[in-house]
Amino acid sequence: MSFELPAAHRELLERARQTADKVRWHAGDADAATDVDPVMREALQASGLVSVTVPAAHGGASETVDPLAVTVVREAFGGVSAHLDSLFAMQGIGSYALSVAGSRRVQEEWLPRVLAVEAIAALCLTEPDVGSDLRSITTTVAERDGELVLDGHKSFITNAPAAAFFTVLAKEEAGYSLVFVPADTPGVTVTSGPDLIAPHVIGEVRFEGVRVPLDSRVGQPGQAFPLVLQTLASFRVSVAGSAVGLAQAALDEAVAHTTGREQFGQPLARLGPIPQMLGTCWMEVEQARLLTYSAASKAAADPQGALHWSSMAKVAATETASRVADRCVQMTGRFGVVTGSTIERLYRNARPMRIYEGGNEVLLGQLAKTLTRPAR
Ligand SMILES: Cc1cc2nc3c(=O)[nH]c(=O)nc-3n(C[C@H](O)[C@H](O)[C@H](O)COP(=O)(O)OP(=O)(O)OC[C@H]3O[C@@H](n4cnc5c(N)ncnc54)[C@H](O)[C@@H]3O)c2cc1C
Repeated sequence: MSFELPAAHRELLERARQTADKVRWHAGDADAATDVDPVMREALQASGLVSVTVPAAHGGASETVDPLAVTVVREAFGGVSAHLDSLFAMQGIGSYALSVAGSRRVQEEWLPRVLAVEAIAALCLTEPDVGSDLRSITTTVAERDGELVLDGHKSFITNAPAAAFFTVLAKEEAGYSLVFVPADTPGVTVTSGPDLIAPHVIGEVRFEGVRVPLDSRVGQPGQAFPLVLQTLASFRVSVAGSAVGLAQAALDEAVAHTTGREQFGQPLARLGPIPQMLGTCWMEVEQARLLTYSAASKAAADPQGALHWSSMAKVAATETASRVADRCVQMTGRFGVVTGSTIERLYRNARPMRIYEGGNEVLLGQLAKTLTRPAR
């Protein structure tokens, strides 16, 4: 089997690369930011690329969100700036449930602003005491006097300090619902932080007696998990795209350094184990890219049916990015550990990828269950 990107996706990758190249000069500053960076936001707005994260019915590029399209854009962005990559991806991840099942009022009022990157989106699942085990959440929503009332505390929420709205997972009676909450609703409090090893726009969001109209519930009462699953099925594989882009960028840095610097009268690239490290990195990046493209094209055809492929690609590519970035730091010697160098930034940016959008161990456990499930 061979896998080549379709022409439309090659063009999209090229467009995204051009967008990222224009802001490469600013990537170091943006990746140190803990609030949305205006240069990156403007570049994203000018590119129009957020349209690949929203279905055509709401102004997006294709009938349903195309995971391969999101993946190739993230490949281009992930190799240049984690901040740009996150800003792009979260517009889709934070709004997807609204596109699929939000009320007409919410869709018409908010999705055009998401597309234009005027309204920054956020998805609130995690809580101080709840990470992987989402069914243990304690945030609640209840119908009272013709409104929805939300109480709880969400933690580690990407974009929280800048978000215009939150899509919130909450317990509703015996089930779970998703609720759309504008950030300026009374009772919503946002605090920035914590500071991460790879700085990120992140924060804590508290909901205290927050009242929103009934049509702020996304989909039917108790139907949150199918919607969360649909979001993951469309976007999880794109984390792999970002990881492949990052790994390739780290390898490019190592190639430039090891061919440009001589020790013992020879380029580093010809010395001792360096050729093996370069060859191994190249092989692993291409392995990860192939699995990622293949999984994303399967997800494009059937997002939920291909979720195990998306999980495999996410684990494989993010583990590859960490390994490759680590080797590339080693190959660049002391220059690779200088704060502010590109390789040092890529090394730090690789680390959180193995934790968010499904911890890699959790995904491997789910894969094992799928693999060993008795045939019906
Ligand atoms: C940069 C960043 C951005 C984030 N953005 C968001 C966001 O926008 N919205 C949001 O809701 N959350 C967000 N999160 C939180 C993220 O979703 C959680 O970190 C993730 O779900 C894992 O939860 P946890 O960190 O509490 O780890 P835990 O669930 O406590 O897990 C700790 C470790 O144990 C492993 N583990 C857990 N359960 C199992 C199991 N059953 N089998 C095997 N291993 C297991 C995990 O893989 C992990 O290695 C973000 C996190 C980071 C780092």
